[in-house]
Amino acid sequence: MIDAGAEGPRIAIVGGGIGGLAAGAFLRREGISATVYEQASQLREVGAGLVVAPNTARLLRRLGVLAALAARAVRLDVGWEFRRWRDGAVLSAEDLASACERLYGEHTYTAHRADLLEALRSAVPDGGVRLGSRCVDLTVRGDGRPVLRFADGETVEPDVVIGADGIHSVVRGAITESASATYSGLCAFRALVPSEHAPDFARRAAQTLWIGPGHHLVHYPVSAGRSVNLVAFAPARDDAVESWTATATVEEFLAEFEGWDPRLTALIRAAGTPGRWALLDRAPLRRWSEGAVTLLGDAAHPMFPFFAQGAAQAVEDAAVLARCLADDLDDPPRALRRYERLRIPRTSRLQDASHTRSLVNHLPDGPDQQARDRSFAEADPLVANGWIYAYDPDDALLNTADA
Ligand SMILES: Cc1cc2nc3c(=O)[nH]c(=O)nc-3n(C[C@H](O)[C@H](O)[C@H](O)COP(=O)(O)OP(=O)(O)OC[C@H]3O[C@@H](n4cnc5c(N)ncnc54)[C@H](O)[C@@H]3O)c2cc1C
Repeated sequence: MIDAGAEGPRIAIVGGGIGGLAAGAFLRREGISATVYEQASQLREVGAGLVVAPNTARLLRRLGVLAALAARAVRLDVGWEFRRWRDGAVLSAEDLASACERLYGEHTYTAHRADLLEALRSAVPDGGVRLGSRCVDLTVRGDGRPVLRFADGETVEPDVVIGADGIHSVVRGAITESASATYSGLCAFRALVPSEHAPDFARRAAQTLWIGPGHHLVHYPVSAGRSVNLVAFAPARDDAVESWTATATVEEFLAEFEGWDPRLTALIRAAGTPGRWALLDRAPLRRWSEGAVTLLGDAAHPMFPFFAQGAAQAVEDAAVLARCLADDLDDPPRALRRYERLRIPRTSRLQDASHTRSLVNHLPDGPDQQARDRSFAEADPLVANGWIYAYDPDDALLNTADA
């Protein structure tokens, strides 16, 4: 057991992305101070959008930052509007305008990642984020105390380490079994199109998914409607890398969607220089914690983006972790074990579901695709996804108060 001292444990969060900042914000809400160590010299997110589903909106409201984000985001009227690749026929859609708030108490938004990051940062105390701090190593002393070493030679010996350092996590590498990545065979093209260059159908307050053989493409407006975010999935080329900053050409992007509905190819043509990101596959980890060190967000459970829940799960992790630590300040390792017990089943289920959805979305035309389209038409996706959207960390914690 670590002596956390009279003022509570000193907590180091490695990584100041969505998960790390959410952890800083939720710890602050519990009255626990923490330091976020971020390798970048500025807090910024490269251009891409994300869906802020009700399970995330609920937690942003609790942090007091939902209104600020909503002012910069787009409140969706329609979600998961699946369309057929060749002619745009609608296979199913969520009616968010009339039902989302009634069912889940919150709306669904689409936002630029930078706006979500800024909303979270505003809930972290000034001085709680150390920029330009790249962690290069984590060791654990004989008495269980973690030691972090940074690229500039600084070492820090906190009571608790939270590894929120993303998909290539240094912290994960130091404490868990190896989570080696396997090649998924897929890559993501990403682009932001200024609204004035986007066709009307793409400017609607809708999250639209065009699905076809081996490929699918998602678009929705972000930044209060000033841009349309475009993300598409296609077979990967050998040189695609898992990086937010790698690029492709619009011709390469277009070639992947040749023969698709011409409205869609017009949108792709407006995409400028798209980013291209290889999707790697990782099986769920059986444990995230070792003594006073734990993981959160993509460091713990990277998932395919096919349920748009990676950042959402990082925010949920942060809410649960902060409460577990607050409930057990004298024994952080016990708090971390409770945290992972609460979180691993849910994030593993989402990792698996996201994996399966890539297969479903990409069926070649034929009997299986026709059966899929019939089942889409029969289901109400807003209800079918209730297990994702209705989740409230406070209920999960209440139900396992003795765990
Ligand atoms: C194409 C695509 C679309 C997506 N769409 C959605 C969506 O609609 N909704 C959704 O919820 N999720 C979505 N996701 C998933 C989401 O982007 C991730 O799950 C989320 O960014 C994870 O947050 P994180 O904080 O765990 O990791 P990251 O965002 O990767 O942040 C990690 C941070 O740690 C820092 N860092 C890394 N190494 C170190 C180090 N050694 N020392 C110090 N700092 C370090 C990095 O600079 C970074 O700031 C999508 C993902 C992709 C690829």
